[in-house]
Amino acid sequence: MPITLTWTGHATWLVDTGQGVLLVDPFFDECPTASMKAADVACDAILVTHGHFDHVADLVAIARRTRACVFCAWEIGQWLGKQGIDAVQPMNLGGRAMVPGGMAKMELAHHSSSLPDGTYGGHPAGWLLDVGDVRVYFAGDTALFSDMARIGRPHDGTRIDAAVLPIGDLFTMGPDDSLEAIRLLAPRIVLPSHYGTWPPIEQDAHAWAQRVREARLADPRVLAPGESITIDPA
Ligand SMILES: [Zn+2]
Repeated sequence: MPITLTWTGHATWLVDTGQGVLLVDPFFDECPTASMKAADVACDAILVTHGHFDHVADLVAIARRTRACVFCAWEIGQWLGKQGIDAVQPMNLGGRAMVPGGMAKMELAHHSSSLPDGTYGGHPAGWLLDVGDVRVYFAGDTALFSDMARIGRPHDGTRIDAAVLPIGDLFTMGPDDSLEAIRLLAPRIVLPSHYGTWPPIEQDAHAWAQRVREARLADPRVLAPGESITIDPA
């Protein structure tokens, strides 16, 4: 079964698995490039990579309104509990959980994670999703790291169909390191994220895509905020 990925801007994505919609890192109302408002988001589960404002700003409001279960680091779950959100599946690195349409594995990310009130947000993460018959990897906010070779080629020999990687630089890897990340992950399709929201993380995504294409690393797809892509099984 194909799945649909929608980029709503910054590092926020909707994944329609055919059996439910997963929302990754809700940041809408204060995101200058967001294609929609938090009040209009419909989802069945929410996946959080880490606690920074630009990934959780609308998390509590959406979780409260939709009652969608939040999959997140243990410490983010504690923070949500204090705000009356109890549909939470706390996790930690290496763990897997069932989500609507498949499985989500919490993967390593090299970054930091504090919550808007200053408390510790646990270890930052990426998400490896097996949904429909498609494998999607959200790197989250991270630097390049060599374990991406392990994430890209798990023991069962299947490959990542679509990888969502930050390219904004400054707070995450930039275009140069993302090319090496694509080499390690070896996905079929790669989508850029976490760029263009504010001037410090401005990037020319089309120039980046050209480099990916010339190096024959993957099929790069640059979306505009609000645009979707359907990922068919390999
Ligand atoms: Zn971020």
